[in-house]
Amino acid sequence: MTQVNQQSYIAGEWVSPTGPAFCAQNPVTSELLSPFYNCQTQEVTTATHAAWSAFLQFSRISPIKRSEFLSTIAEEIQALGDDLLTLCNEECGLGIPRLTGERARTLNQINAFAKIVKDSSWVQASIDTAEPQRQPLPKPDLRKMLKPIGPIAVFGASNFPFAFGALGGDTISALAAGNTVVLKGHPTHPTTNALLARAIDKAITKCGMPNGVFSLLQGNEISLSEQLVTDPLIQGVGFTGSLQGGRAIMNAAAKRDTPIPVFAEMGSTNPMFFTHKVLQQDANNLATKLAASVCMGTGQFCTSPGIIVIEKHPDFIEAFTQGLNSQPKTPMLNKNIGTAFVAGVKDFIAYNDVQWLNKKDNALLEPLMPASILLSTSATAFLNNEAMQNEIFGPATLLVECDNEQQMLAVANVLKGNLTSSIHATEQDQGLIAELLPVLEQKAGRIIFNGFPTGVEVCGSQHHGGPYPASSNGASTSVGIDAIHRFAKFVAYQDTPAYLLPPELADENPRKIVRRINGCFTASPVKQS
Ligand code: NAP
Repeated sequence: MTQVNQQSYIAGEWVSPTGPAFCAQNPVTSELLSPFYNCQTQEVTTATHAAWSAFLQFSRISPIKRSEFLSTIAEEIQALGDDLLTLCNEECGLGIPRLTGERARTLNQINAFAKIVKDSSWVQASIDTAEPQRQPLPKPDLRKMLKPIGPIAVFGASNFPFAFGALGGDTISALAAGNTVVLKGHPTHPTTNALLARAIDKAITKCGMPNGVFSLLQGNEISLSEQLVTDPLIQGVGFTGSLQGGRAIMNAAAKRDTPIPVFAEMGSTNPMFFTHKVLQQDANNLATKLAASVCMGTGQFCTSPGIIVIEKHPDFIEAFTQGLNSQPKTPMLNKNIGTAFVAGVKDFIAYNDVQWLNKKDNALLEPLMPASILLSTSATAFLNNEAMQNEIFGPATLLVECDNEQQMLAVANVLKGNLTSSIHATEQDQGLIAELLPVLEQKAGRIIFNGFPTGVEVCGSQHHGGPYPASSNGASTSVGIDAIHRFAKFVAYQDTPAYLLPPELADENPRKIVRRINGCFTASPVKQS
């Protein structure tokens, strides 16, 4: 088995911080794993200074070299072999098949970014040529494109150790745009973080990239995260995790003298609407599929269905209850998440108007291996208690029972922001859908018809973000190639001499990209009149 040093990786060096120790815990055996040590003030400062120096070089490296760097990172992750899966599984208990799939997804997303970086098509080049004779004022030559913004602080989530981990979508989209990254590794999988840092270290050496293009700070102290976010050299933040963590990061950033963008992708309850007619047609089948979606990955997906809105339908509820009860128990990611899950369920069952429908006699909530939980309430109670919209991260879902379609619409209208919302309906439901859809467009970043929110396709047309609290900026996505736009800013060049223009804005169009020239999209060179 690969030996892993319990270290952080800062500015091209493996370092042993002197801060307090912390240990990941195997969620299946409860065994405490090897200790790692918290980075301290000096290590954060070294990482951000190195990230700034590296940015000055890395942001100017040609797209082809940047693309090669990304592809090499993917190759080096692959070269870690199955030890990566085994060691990661010890830390998160997600299981080898799931981790194999997640690694493939992670490699695919890195290669997708490598491709668009090579194309240079993502920079949204726009050119308006000069009109010196225009009256009453001459028009200048203006050209703009997206450029990187600087060192980015990235916070990975525990539930996707690869896809939203050290070299996950946030890190890779930031690097793809030409930024450097200081990663605060998630403390529940420090060995996985160290292995992934080893992969990028090799890629840095192979591709001759500047040290400091990527640093990994290991730790579990809140002060470490705060110092990183408030460091003056950090120019943006990518966060994936809980609402509580994301809000803390947003608040820390807001205290800075100089504001920076924070792209926090947080929790979501992913409300699903089932019309009465669709349940009349297909209650058993839908209930079985829904139970599987709620329990997928022990409910530890940001797209897990947490709120189910129906008109009263006893057969569906019966089938859903059976479906949930027949799902195998699987482990939670870690003790903190398990404990938060139990606390979340207890908050809900303390409400007089919430019933725990599948409670068994003397049922105990096991934080590391919980049963799936079906809660139920009335639309009236839901409308009067905003706290019923809180995410319970894990295999629990709240059924909201409505008396009629008007109540379903009322529930939709009070929803907070979400990553997704789903509608199960028949062709005879068009009147209801015509009213429901415009409401849900305001509430969620992705709307799913006759399907389930778990299982996020990674492609250019994906939008994985939503109005607050799902994201700090609902216009941004953390999945798909448009994630790169979070870490880029426009620069406009006015009357700039040709020899100073970036290739993407040069008349000849050497990169052969589609550009907007005087309002028309074309890959042709600029014709000077
Ligand atoms: P988490 O506990 O919020 O941790 C995420 C990161 O934030 C960690 O590095 C954590 O470090 C840090 N952090 C947490 N609380 C903090 C605080 N108060 N101050 C400073 N830093 C803090 O999230 P998680 O448990 O890993 O992930 C589960 C959550 O992520 C769920 O709510 C899920 O819905 C969400 N999620 C969202 C997406 C998405 O795409 N929107 C994807 C995956 C997961 P420390 O632990 O060291 O504090």
